[in-house]
Amino acid sequence: FNVPTPVNEPVKEYRPGSAEREAVKKALQDFRSVETDIPMYIGGQEVRTDRKLRVAPPHDHQHTLGYFHEGDAQHVEQAIEAALAAKDNWASLSWEHRASIFLKAADLLAGPYRARINAATMLGQSKNAFQAEIDSACELIDFLRFNVHYATDIYRQQPNSSPGVWNRLEYRPLEGFVFALTPFNFTAIAGNLPTSAAMMGNTVVWKPAYTQVLSAKVIMEVLMEAGLPDGVINLIYVDGPVAGDIIFNHPDFAGIHFTGSTGVFQAIWGTIGANIHKYKSYPRIVGETGGKDFVLVHESADADEVATGLVRGAFEYQGQKCSAASRAYVPSSLWPAIETKVKEFLSEIKMGVTEDFTNFINAVIDERSFKKITAYIDAAKQSDQVKIVAGGNYDGSKGYFIEPTVLQVNDPNYRTMCEEIFGPVLSVYVYEPSEFESILQIVNSTSPYALTGSIFAKDRYVIEHTSKALQNAAGNFYINDKPTGAVVGQQPFGGARASGTNDKAGSALNLYRWVSARTIKETY
Ligand code: GLU
Repeated sequence: FNVPTPVNEPVKEYRPGSAEREAVKKALQDFRSVETDIPMYIGGQEVRTDRKLRVAPPHDHQHTLGYFHEGDAQHVEQAIEAALAAKDNWASLSWEHRASIFLKAADLLAGPYRARINAATMLGQSKNAFQAEIDSACELIDFLRFNVHYATDIYRQQPNSSPGVWNRLEYRPLEGFVFALTPFNFTAIAGNLPTSAAMMGNTVVWKPAYTQVLSAKVIMEVLMEAGLPDGVINLIYVDGPVAGDIIFNHPDFAGIHFTGSTGVFQAIWGTIGANIHKYKSYPRIVGETGGKDFVLVHESADADEVATGLVRGAFEYQGQKCSAASRAYVPSSLWPAIETKVKEFLSEIKMGVTEDFTNFINAVIDERSFKKITAYIDAAKQSDQVKIVAGGNYDGSKGYFIEPTVLQVNDPNYRTMCEEIFGPVLSVYVYEPSEFESILQIVNSTSPYALTGSIFAKDRYVIEHTSKALQNAAGNFYINDKPTGAVVGQQPFGGARASGTNDKAGSALNLYRWVSARTIKETY
């Protein structure tokens, strides 16, 4: 079974009048004009409850997009039972059969479902058409195709044999079920966490964020149409502590595939540790958990390139990427030029609803985020350590809109330089070029995270030196580019320290975590 190296799914541009723009406009209209019913999917069955929770676009929160059916403890039990019941059949299917399902799902997303999943992401998660396209279309398609390719390579790796002895490695799935706990900010991640574990023969209980249920439903539709057998992935909407109490006490709990906050991941890790004697095997714990991603600018950098990198890195998808540029260190020699350019860009970009294709900035995900982010902005306005360079205004009355905000701080340890805000707030510290060495220390130590980071410099020595000095400060390190936008198959993604277990998403390193190999020696 040979899978040629996939080509990344080309990004469509959604130009005015283009077929893709018309298709997505129609899909947006379809979602707008009916209230979508969003059931859970357990053992291939749609499951409805009488606890129906409202789904609204973050940029227009009075509008009802639909309702999802919240489950309780019994649905968690049912999902685990369905996963365990489906396990033997799924694990014993040939790899060709399993792989074909995910390749077909990728083709469905690339073709007939593309407009629908992008519209669901645009409305449910407030992404503009471009941000939706690179996420729910291209990245999710790439995850599926590249993971099939990498898994095929894994299955081919075999030990040596000798005359009279035949050795082999059987790449078994984990014994039990895998729990996928997924975030709102990338439909692609929400799709990748359950499917990558399932690809390796595992069955999964999948609990998405309550703010991503519309696009989660579309992912499930695609997987079912692609032929995923009942019970392989079970999608439930259940309160976190209720689900966790059952899952992390279950003897067949075999692993968690997680993207979300550091606090939640650490609490889960602690619970798993406390329950370790209850499980049949040591569970695999795989997680990506946030960042405080830096942009370090050297005086040899090009000011225009830096300004573009800062605006795109900090503000695309309202800064709600774990990889978003949120702290920048800029030499005083370049700051006036960069400041002018950043302000110019920001004065040109528009904020508003996602259905208007000219808007660059849309709303943040929900009221809780809105309050958290605006509290940082309010505190900055009060502080004599901070100058508001751009933005600073917000209005949550119709949608959760926050202007892209640039803060210039006079202390590199000010809280917005250290804490994850997860919103459209960029903090800048201006340093004297002669202080570059001490700035390297500060970049390395002011935050507990190590997800992404960028160096902008033309001086080759500085690039090499910085790369070495910051080797543990970012799992994804970018030279003369923004720290966001990792492409599957090109920049495997993940970080260490408080940012996660660094089992790079979209690579063999991740897929290895979902197998528990059996070595077989046969003499003849
Ligand atoms: N992979 C995304 C990027 O490179 C970020 C993923 C995340 O926010 O978790 O921008």
